[in-house]
Amino acid sequence: MPDFDNKTSDSIVVRQDVPLAPFTSFRIGGAARFFTTAGSLDQLRQSLLFARREGLPFCILGGGTNLLISDQGFDGVAIRMQLEEVQVSGNRIEAQAGVDLMELIRRTAELGLSGMESLAGIPGSVGGAVRGNAGAYGSCMADVTERVLALHAQSLELLSLEPGECAFQYRDSRFKRDPSLVVVSALLSLSPGDPGEVRQKMEATVARREARQLQCDLSAGSFFMNPVVTDPELIRRFETDQGVRCRECRIPAGWLIDQAGLRSTRVGGAMVNPRHANYLVNTGDASAEEMVRLASLVKRRVRDELGVVLREEVSSLGFTSESPRGQGC
Ligand SMILES: Cc1cc2nc3c(=O)[nH]c(=O)nc-3n(C[C@H](O)[C@H](O)[C@H](O)COP(=O)(O)OP(=O)(O)OC[C@H]3O[C@@H](n4cnc5c(N)ncnc54)[C@H](O)[C@@H]3O)c2cc1C
Repeated sequence: MPDFDNKTSDSIVVRQDVPLAPFTSFRIGGAARFFTTAGSLDQLRQSLLFARREGLPFCILGGGTNLLISDQGFDGVAIRMQLEEVQVSGNRIEAQAGVDLMELIRRTAELGLSGMESLAGIPGSVGGAVRGNAGAYGSCMADVTERVLALHAQSLELLSLEPGECAFQYRDSRFKRDPSLVVVSALLSLSPGDPGEVRQKMEATVARREARQLQCDLSAGSFFMNPVVTDPELIRRFETDQGVRCRECRIPAGWLIDQAGLRSTRVGGAMVNPRHANYLVNTGDASAEEMVRLASLVKRRVRDELGVVLREEVSSLGFTSESPRGQGC
């Protein structure tokens, strides 16, 4: 186990009524009643204890790139994850949850460690990526994760979880299903490679993403998960239209939204991206309510016209007044 736990730190600073929109890629949402920053494990524990003492839910903010916050904000404690240490040992890297994923991938390229190149360009933190099992182009975090350290919000105990205990699935994990587990760090196992080749592969992935011109929009990436489709006629239609086989019976949500004729559909300032229909974007002044109404419209039309139920990939925060005591998103 890494010695991150041995660091002592200052006590936390608790701020009140802190606007959360600037901490998200959507740039949407109201303020948090309380806001703290966890720059050490000790500060993370203090923040969780503070929430417990106040009888309020908490929420971890990573890079905020997969998060829709309500216009009313969050009546709880938003904890900004800033554990940012990285330890390298041979072909293994222990990265704390607040490390920027892209920065980490650049570092692996410098070290000539291969395995994460296809994930290059996914914004956000290591913790957020582990929780959502982020992935792209056939790779995902689960492929390289050897062990996860998580802090249990109630017991404040540090748990060391093997991949089998993390329940990784497509854009899913135990950490997503059990919000009392806060990802603290991940041990990533990579393969030795040639630094030049690793860098080239990483840059090719970034170029491929940039060619889609989606990285600069105010969005949270894919709004919906790619659903498993059982209708053989719809699968045939997709494969004929796209000239590719569908993987594990999943059809891209963007294709389905497109088939339902929703590209460029708007609700106020929220819009279905004309370049990628699974990206719902804030065109500048969208409210969370408009984004939710647009998402509902998309779900309804895809269900009614294609018989497929879409599920959100984006996490939401502050949408009910009755959040369970625990993590609020
Ligand atoms: C332009 C763009 C492109 C994208 N492309 C992709 C892509 O190709 N593939 C992909 O998978 N995703 C993609 N995404 C979505 C997003 O980048 C990923 O889901 C990312 O891993 C989220 O990390 P984050 O740190 O920003 O999480 P946040 O948005 O900060 O948080 C998301 C959820 O995770 C929780 N969380 C965050 N950190 C922790 C932690 N340490 N412990 C426990 N819970 C935590 C939060 O409370 C929240 O519920 C894209 C997003 C954008 C804006």
